[in-house]
Amino acid sequence: MEPPFYFVRDKASHAAHHWDYLRNRRATALCGHDYGDIQWEGTARPAKVCRQCQEVLPRFEATWWRTAARRAQVHRDRLEKENARLGKELTGLRRQMNQLTYQLELSKETIESQKSTIGSQKSTIDSQAEKIDNQRKTLKHLQTARAEKKKPHTSGTKTGVKSPSRGKAQGGTSTRVGVWRSADQVFSSGAKRSGAPKLAK
Ligand SMILES: [Zn+2]
Repeated sequence: MEPPFYFVRDKASHAAHHWDYLRNRRATALCGHDYGDIQWEGTARPAKVCRQCQEVLPRFEATWWRTAARRAQVHRDRLEKENARLGKELTGLRRQMNQLTYQLELSKETIESQKSTIGSQKSTIDSQAEKIDNQRKTLKHLQTARAEKKKPHTSGTKTGVKSPSRGKAQGGTSTRVGVWRSADQVFSSGAKRSGAPKLAK
């Protein structure tokens, strides 16, 4: 890093003058020379430079370096602050990451335990379903067995009941029903008759 120099040479001077860095005058050099007809100006250092200008130069250089040092200090302070802020942020992020990792591990454990719970519940449900299925089969067997037992008995009563109704449906056989009824009546009344004297004895 170097101070930025700027040189100006006019027709009257043998050597190039320095720009008036201290006061920034456009028509006068650092040494106080008033420019006449300007021949050349630029940042490239010419072979001959005005001695009077070079004698004043340390004042400018001292000011320039002081300013540069102050700027660097400000910049460094800013960087240090930024660094501290980023360090804090990094610590916070690390803490967050640790918490998240811990929570993730916890949820993994929870998921694993829930998986095993669901597995055992499923096997319980399966075995219960099997039991229910077995009970259903047993019930069906019992029902079939009962139906087999009832078959002759029910069919007998059915025919017994049906025969008079069938006679009715055929028509003209109502007399037969009447005959049956009367027979029953006769039998029952006969029984009563026969029974009555027995009781009387
Ligand atoms: Zn000069």
